[in-house]
Amino acid sequence: MNQIDEKLQPILNVVLQRNAGEAEFHQAVREVLESLGHVVAKHPGYAEDALIERICEPERQIIFRVPWIDDNGQVQINRGFRVQFNSALGPYKGGIRFHPSVNLGIVKFLGFEQIFKNALTGLPIGGGKGGSDFDPRGRSDREIMRFCQSFMIELHRHVGEYTDVPAGDIGVGGREIGYMFGMYKRLTNRYEAAVLTGKALVHGGSRARTEATGYGTAYFVQRMLSTRSESFEGRRVVVSGTGNVAIYAMEKALEFGAKIVACSDSNGYVVDENGIDLDLVKQIKEVRRARISEYAQLKGKGAHYIDGGSIWDVPCEVALPCATQNELSGRDAKALIKNGVVAVGEGANMPSTPEAVQAFREAGTLFAPGKAANAGGVATSALEMQQNASRDSWTFERTEERLAEIMDGIHDRCARTAEEYGAPGDYVLGANITGFVRVAEAMRALGVV
Ligand code: NDP
Repeated sequence: MNQIDEKLQPILNVVLQRNAGEAEFHQAVREVLESLGHVVAKHPGYAEDALIERICEPERQIIFRVPWIDDNGQVQINRGFRVQFNSALGPYKGGIRFHPSVNLGIVKFLGFEQIFKNALTGLPIGGGKGGSDFDPRGRSDREIMRFCQSFMIELHRHVGEYTDVPAGDIGVGGREIGYMFGMYKRLTNRYEAAVLTGKALVHGGSRARTEATGYGTAYFVQRMLSTRSESFEGRRVVVSGTGNVAIYAMEKALEFGAKIVACSDSNGYVVDENGIDLDLVKQIKEVRRARISEYAQLKGKGAHYIDGGSIWDVPCEVALPCATQNELSGRDAKALIKNGVVAVGEGANMPSTPEAVQAFREAGTLFAPGKAANAGGVATSALEMQQNASRDSWTFERTEERLAEIMDGIHDRCARTAEEYGAPGDYVLGANITGFVRVAEAMRALGVV
């Protein structure tokens, strides 16, 4: 682990004490504070008025009961969360996650990351995140609807176009957003399309939003590779996950000429030396909502499935972790480096452990941290809000063009900042400092609020 500046260590100590047991939140704060030592050394003003302490403390944390009735008529209880972390740049903005692992610490880590990610996009959005420990796997469509409705019955009091604008994340896609928007509309008697993003086109959703996070990650990595006169063309790529981010990262990488050799879900991974057949993956995961193990059964020759194990043992030149936090360990990073990985782009939020990030930095691997590389999703959500506000609907091409511009902009700003701070090619430092400075400037101008 890197050292923390002595001025910042007491801030981390307070975070650890005040948020006891929230390991993922501690990890996310530590990683940002490690970068900020360089900033406060150069600009001591940023350490004044408890600015960094304020950034580490959410503006508001909401925890609520979500009762619902399953298909057997049994009452089920889940816990709902919304952490409204920072609104200096605009309304809170960030996804909702439905997964049994969700707890306050995970929502806070995601909300904290979201502040800097949203700042990096250059768009007027604050940071927040929400979710529930509800497990959608194996639930019927009606159960999902009843759960989403109950979740929104409480959440609607806290969100709104000018207040807080949630979107999807793990376990929350277009179907869930549709059910939540339906209940919001009924409860408020307002067709307030910009209260949620990731909506269906017919309700004011944006073209390319579904694809945006994965496409954006591929755009970022392509630009990062270009700094070493490299590209995706002809490269072996491994992508973890087969959810929203993973599928569209694969789609754009394929368009850039890559060969995807492996992908996964939470049970195991498939390797296909002929190149992963993305249409088949979409059929299995998006249409039938089945397990990735079926891929090998359906594909037959050339493809095989490994139950459990680590997908990072599959040799590749580009690795795109797109499933979940801490899915790529120090050991995995060493295996990737040994097998000749050139670039790693985080489609998921904080998928690499601190040991893994350290290993990539030491090996000189091009490494794109999630808060920069996966910002295309929230950026396109902000474009969806723009379209809703102007009662407009853009074409796919226009939206994707904006997305590509935004990703190139994020890449270039991170790269420039890293150079300015004497660490060329360090995208972790570049992303943390660029995001922080924009939020810090906005907060300073607002006074102590
Ligand atoms: P999805 O629910 O669509 O897909 C998640 C994928 O990851 C699934 O393949 C899932 O497998 C797998 N997965 C989930 N948990 C685990 C686990 N514990 N171990 C291994 N695999 C796991 O989610 P998204 O694609 O939307 O999100 C993926 C990541 O990207 C998350 O970190 C999210 O925060 C981040 N992200 C998402 C954005 C978006 O726009 N959707 C925007 C920015 C970041 P299974 O099917 O078995 O559950």
